[in-house]
Amino acid sequence: MALVNEHFLKLPGSYLFSDIAKKVNTFRITHPKQDIIRLGIGDVTQPLPKACTEAMHKAVEELANKDTFRGYGPEQGYDFLIEAIIKNDFAPRGIHFSASEIFVSDGAKSDTGNIGDILRHDNSVGVTDPIYPVYIDSNVMCGRAGVLEEETGKWSNVTYMPCTSENNFIPEIPDKRIDIVYLCYPNNPTGTTLTKPELKKWVDYALSNDTLILFDAAYEAYIQDENVPHSIYEIKGAKKCAIEFRSFSKTAGFTGVRCGYTVVPKELTAATLEGDRIPLNRLWNRRQCTKFN
Ligand SMILES: *Cc1c(COP(=O)(O)O)cnc(C)c1O
Repeated sequence: MALVNEHFLKLPGSYLFSDIAKKVNTFRITHPKQDIIRLGIGDVTQPLPKACTEAMHKAVEELANKDTFRGYGPEQGYDFLIEAIIKNDFAPRGIHFSASEIFVSDGAKSDTGNIGDILRHDNSVGVTDPIYPVYIDSNVMCGRAGVLEEETGKWSNVTYMPCTSENNFIPEIPDKRIDIVYLCYPNNPTGTTLTKPELKKWVDYALSNDTLILFDAAYEAYIQDENVPHSIYEIKGAKKCAIEFRSFSKTAGFTGVRCGYTVVPKELTAATLEGDRIPLNRLWNRRQCTKFN
């Protein structure tokens, strides 16, 4: 008898989007003259930039020719892209990475969902509330979120950090230690950004509590304010405590194409139960080589 992963059965149905649709329809009937700004699930509205489509046409021609055809690419992504990422996304901000610290992938959704593969099932998890649902559901699926408390709709092993108008949508630093904290800045869905001093508080918290920060920077390209860091690695010490996820989806209209990347710095480690420190770069590389190409 094959047994199912029963953690999947704990996931509540996602009624959120049908609930929102009902509320919008009711509002439209009662307020026919009002414009509605929709902040629910969306998609890009512009076609791919010309630079991308031209490169794609060229790549197709390459694959059509016996002399330039490529078979399996490297699991970590092609060097030409990794080098362009290092040179354009990080070097101008004074951040330096070697090629082996960048992992090109099919997007930030997959990587934020899969990163839990390399972390023990009983780590405690912290999330800002509200959040991008992938962070919680992927932890539920492997049993890391604990038990759903029916009354509150919250998971027993997850610490929720409220982002409300009262705190200007900026979460407070937890007053206890948490093993893994998800941060997303600029934030989906609140649109909040963190200044350097605010993000530094999180890096300092992580360094003093041995916490791993999973930093989702999918909206990095929208930052215009000079005081807002584009990468968590602009903060000193972040290479020791953070993984950063990037995406070309929202910037370059790649939602259908699927391309993003994840940065796992060489000096980032996590512990075994015995207390040995293991580089997460090594584990993520192994995970990608086995399950992704
Ligand atoms: C859209 C989005 C993603 C997904 O990025 P893909 O590269 O399209 O998988 C990840 N995180 C946040 C916060 C997003 O809004």
